[in-house]
Amino acid sequence: WAKLQKSNSYRFYRSDLPVVSGDELQIETWLRYALEREEFEVWYQPKYSLSQGRIVGAEALIRWQHPETGYISPGKFIPLSEETGLIVAIGDWVLKTVCGQTAEWLHSGQPVVAIAVNLSSVQLNQASLVQQIRDILTLTQLPPDHLELEVTETALMQDVEPAIALLHELKALGVRIALDDFGTGYASLSYLQQLPIDILKIDTSFVRNIHENVTNQAILKHVIAMAHDLGLKIIAEGIEIELEMFTLKSFGCDLIQGYWVGPPMNATEFAQRL
Ligand code: C2E
Ligand code: MG
Ligand code: MG
Ligand code: MG
Repeated sequence: WAKLQKSNSYRFYRSDLPVVSGDELQIETWLRYALEREEFEVWYQPKYSLSQGRIVGAEALIRWQHPETGYISPGKFIPLSEETGLIVAIGDWVLKTVCGQTAEWLHSGQPVVAIAVNLSSVQLNQASLVQQIRDILTLTQLPPDHLELEVTETALMQDVEPAIALLHELKALGVRIALDDFGTGYASLSYLQQLPIDILKIDTSFVRNIHENVTNQAILKHVIAMAHDLGLKIIAEGIEIELEMFTLKSFGCDLIQGYWVGPPMNATEFAQRL
């Protein structure tokens, strides 16, 4: 239970709440119940093109509003759902929801270019993943180039050769691949060259106060130039202030995402922003 609480939450102790700390079975039941009772939602955080000066897509982020405890962050429950394997069912739900919603937006003439979905390493290890995504694209009739998949370098580094093969299979579906949280793991530049990815997503920790961090400026200029040489697009995440945006723009960064453009928002609000 303690694991699920926001660290800064200030609720008082409720004796009628289940004690589940360390009890994976209880947590699994709770998470499964959440899926059945439709307690999850998908929110959309805008992605903004610096060259076009407009919102071109979004990252889909799962939200869980528990009826008793309120908001539980994905940073808390995604790792638990990975431990229990429930991430497979949750991930399937997210993909269906996002592809269905994006197809709907396209049909209604919304200028949405692509929506990105996060994939966990557990999902990447499912032999059925490619078929699953193919089925969802067929079911929702979403043209594949409107779907982006975000995978982290740590997820890929676990087993490099099969990961590269899997990414090729996914790309063959026509979807785009983004390498998420770049800069937080150990992916080398030569390793990047082997990965069939389309987008490099620079982690928040690298762009925070970039306007006054000379070391990170030097690194980022180099990373952006190198990524462009490899034919990759660059997106920086976690842009909170205008000075960070201006600095990245001057470095030739293609896209940005962060509170400066807009926080994650529900589907209706995102459609309005579009
Ligand atoms: P991520 O993929 O790196 O997502 C970016 C996180 O940064 C999101 O947190 C987003 O709300 C937050 N963020 C966006 N802009 C800003 C900003 O300007 N400043 C700061 N400080 N934060 C910003 P969130 O939504 O809590 O998600 C956390 C992580 O949970 C995600 O990291 C992702 O790894 C995972 N996650 C979220 N939704 C899903 C999902 O549907 N499936 C899977 N497998 N993982 C998910
Ligand atoms: Mg992501
Ligand atoms: Mg990220
Ligand atoms: Mg991140």
